[in-house]
Amino acid sequence: MDCNELDNISLVAKDHAENPRNFGMLSVFNGHARITGPCGDTMEFWLAIRNARVEQVSFVTDGCAPSLAAGSMATSLAQGKPIAEAMKIGQQDILNALGGLPTESEHCPLLASNTLKAACKNYLGIKPGGEEQLPSPTSGAKKPETSPKPGLNRKPQESQEHFEERLKLQDRMSSIRHKIVVMSGKGGVGKSTVAVNLATSLAMAGKKVGLLDVDIHGPSIPTMLGLEKSLLEEGEDGLLPVLQGNMKVMSIGFLLASQDDAVIWRGPRKMKVIQQFLSDVAWGELDYLIIDSPPGTGDEPLSVCQLIENPDGAVIVTTPQKVAAVDVRKSVTFCRQLNLPVIGLVENMAGFACPKCGEVTPILSSGAGRRLAADMDVKFLGAIPIDPAIASAGDNGEPFVDYFKTSPTAKIIKEIIQEVLDFNKS
Ligand code: ADP
Repeated sequence: MDCNELDNISLVAKDHAENPRNFGMLSVFNGHARITGPCGDTMEFWLAIRNARVEQVSFVTDGCAPSLAAGSMATSLAQGKPIAEAMKIGQQDILNALGGLPTESEHCPLLASNTLKAACKNYLGIKPGGEEQLPSPTSGAKKPETSPKPGLNRKPQESQEHFEERLKLQDRMSSIRHKIVVMSGKGGVGKSTVAVNLATSLAMAGKKVGLLDVDIHGPSIPTMLGLEKSLLEEGEDGLLPVLQGNMKVMSIGFLLASQDDAVIWRGPRKMKVIQQFLSDVAWGELDYLIIDSPPGTGDEPLSVCQLIENPDGAVIVTTPQKVAAVDVRKSVTFCRQLNLPVIGLVENMAGFACPKCGEVTPILSSGAGRRLAADMDVKFLGAIPIDPAIASAGDNGEPFVDYFKTSPTAKIIKEIIQEVLDFNKS
């Protein structure tokens, strides 16, 4: 059939041939196949499988209109399906969905279905004629035997180096199930304290956790965990996070000879450091990555949120003072502009917890955080009092929720963390 002669095929097939869906290589994928059919046409499929479901699928073909229609329809049928069902999509299913094709083109849906099946098998680790291996939903991207078609997913004017770094970062992030950004409108409100205790609680609950400190101007996590003297090691696949029990920790502070380094970097240099830092860390598979973001709503947190790609949401930390309301509004607006869900608001340093009995005495007017959250239509996660034990735990490198498990303040923090976990479940 001539490419230009689309008149003899159904309207559905014509539409798919003229506007193929899901055309082009996926930048992050964990299943891939390319097959050349007896007619000489080549079909290539990429799959991004998550939780045994086809989250994204794409294809390319050098064939003519019916090949385009068949590949396009195969991707549309496979999208969102459990992998077991995607594997069963056959020639007839594609033909039916297209409303039929002329007999001489019926081999095209067969080629599409075979290539889709082969990509599923590639994901499952089934070699042609070989035994099935243990499926590993996040075993990392398997690269195609051929190099990607140049320029397919590269942004206009993006350098090859930048593009490759972006791919590397996406690849790393695809092995992490949940990414939570902890942010605040300004520094010193307890953002890192919340990030450390959130990550520690999750690790104590048996989750595989990474804690990432990208607070370029005040990377305090090494101090809070007693890891200031840690030396970074380079593994085969990139920088290895430092282990704190079973939690993996990476801080931009590990890379700075002195904290003044970051202060003298100008804007673009800072962004470059953040991007390179993010793409260099070899996290492996994680249940949660907790990200301690730079404070504010400027270029630095913006880069972090954009580079991390699809974080689950943000926890915003604030203090009870009236002036902090402005910062919270800015942070919530920032998240909304980025389509980043707000998990909720934590009010830190709300009242004073008596070191002897744990009773909380309000210092400033109480309830400001809750009112602000209601006003901004975000969830109020809880109020943490000023507790001298939090400050001393931070100074001594002891995660508070671990060292003061039974204190009333630790209980409050755990309730907040439960809210965050519930958000992830919903
Ligand atoms: P940020 O990350 O927002 O700059 P940090 O988490 O580093 O803030 O906290 C700043 C300081 O305040 C740290 O010394 C920390 O131990 C202390 N701190 C934070 N929250 C509390 C609290 N609820 N009670 C007592 N000290 C706190």
